[in-house]
Amino acid sequence: MLQAGSGVNGGPPARDLEVIIIGAGFGGIGAAIELRRHGIRSVRILEKASDLGGTWYYNSYPGAACDVPSHLYSFSYAQRKDWLRLCSFQAEIHSYLQDVARDHGIEPLIRTNTAVTGCSWDEQRCRWTVRDSDANTYEADAIVIATGQLDQPSIPELPGVESFAGHTFHSAEWDHGYDLEGKRVAVVGSGASAVQFVPEIAPRVRRLSVFQRTGNWFLPRANRRYPAWAKAAFERVPGLQAWRRIFLFYYTESLTLCIRNPRTFGRLMALRSTGFMRSQLRDREVRRKAWPDYTFGCKRILFSSTFLPALQRPNVELVTEAIEHVEPEGLRTRDGRLHEVDCVIWATGFKTNDFMFPMEITGTGGRSLSESWASGPHAHLGITVPGFPNMFLMYGPNTNTSGGSIIVYLEAQARYLRQALERVRARGAGAIEVRREVEAASDRSVQERFAGTAWMDCESWYRDVHGRIVANWPGYMRDYLQMTDALDEAEFTFAPLPERVAA
Ligand code: NAP
Repeated sequence: MLQAGSGVNGGPPARDLEVIIIGAGFGGIGAAIELRRHGIRSVRILEKASDLGGTWYYNSYPGAACDVPSHLYSFSYAQRKDWLRLCSFQAEIHSYLQDVARDHGIEPLIRTNTAVTGCSWDEQRCRWTVRDSDANTYEADAIVIATGQLDQPSIPELPGVESFAGHTFHSAEWDHGYDLEGKRVAVVGSGASAVQFVPEIAPRVRRLSVFQRTGNWFLPRANRRYPAWAKAAFERVPGLQAWRRIFLFYYTESLTLCIRNPRTFGRLMALRSTGFMRSQLRDREVRRKAWPDYTFGCKRILFSSTFLPALQRPNVELVTEAIEHVEPEGLRTRDGRLHEVDCVIWATGFKTNDFMFPMEITGTGGRSLSESWASGPHAHLGITVPGFPNMFLMYGPNTNTSGGSIIVYLEAQARYLRQALERVRARGAGAIEVRREVEAASDRSVQERFAGTAWMDCESWYRDVHGRIVANWPGYMRDYLQMTDALDEAEFTFAPLPERVAA
């Protein structure tokens, strides 16, 4: 398909690249906006859910919120001055993303209820074929996989898990039809999701047993509504909104500073956390059980002023004995005790290392992405993988943040992949592919940058089965912005455009 007009410097005419984006969360919508703003108009988004939103569609558990302030956890080009509070709840974030998609004309491009099962590259034609679970196929010149790191709920394979006779669901698939009022409930897991919903459900249930495998480091979260004067100031004072975003950017970078420097800045922040946790944990026994035993910042630092007090309610028990197996009546712990419950809520996180799998992705020479990643996921800047031309990842390997806003990273990725496709178009090429040695060097450098950081000091979901940290970016947001700012053509090879399009 050709577009009218000549290419750069009188070269071949620019063609209208067709792009399929998989996933309509912040990543997919951000990529679509970026491409269309720069003249790559033929964009389709395939989304498995019945609505856009990704994480913010699925995670609707009570109290679901983002602990990154909304002035930063939002697109730089779609700033909102009327956020209700510092850190927004799920419904407000979901509605923000719906508004952004509508305002930028993205809604009509989304095909919902479409679960992609595979993508394969045809190197003769320089085309991707995408298949869905209803056996439909779609073709495009390029694909953007924006399925994220946190989209596949993980439930531990405990012996007897299928035998449980009560009700059960995962925090990311909250059963709003199930009334928890007066029930005996087990929550397995005490990570970022559990700490948000446990304080919400604790007053409603008869008894709540929170099964914790590892304690966490906490910092306070005061998340009151913005007073009217503050909202009026954001509306009326020129530059205030922009200044606040910049302030929040550097404020959140300070967490990364602590994680990167665990013996200095990290110790200071750990002291602050210790003071806060001691003030919250008045019950000595609960304090002993809840206390973390690893370096501050190695796992996600949790922001909550309500979780630790909830653990000390008379109807709540913090259980730290390991779960041995599940029985029809409840969970049996290693000390032989049976915790009888009506409902088990799995707050056990996501299959983070699976990324887009079990989707089957086949690149050059019929080689699959799972073969390429046999020794662990890796991608140049988390975006491009050798052997997979015209394929781009959003929120790919080593692009998670423990400090800042993932939206900053997603915007950077969208700009980078847009530049890549612009080069394909400008050169009249068929495909762009990162050089193998470039990706290998950037992967080595990412891994080396973890040395001496808090992330190295414990087991966490940031690591893969080989122990490599594959989820997180090892540095600051500003490093990532700088490294993705201008795509270096020398790092890529370009395949010629096959006859079918050039003709
Ligand atoms: P998570 O942080 O991975 O926490 C999972 C919890 O389940 C941990 O306490 C973990 O213990 C426990 N667990 C896992 N497998 C277990 C097993 N076999 N037996 C016993 N316990 C087990 O998951 P999440 O709370 O859903 O959060 C996932 C991520 O989503 C977060 O890290 C964060 O990036 C994101 N999130 C963000 C926000 C936000 O406000 N921005 C809110 C919610 C979630 P261990 O610690 O011992 O592994």
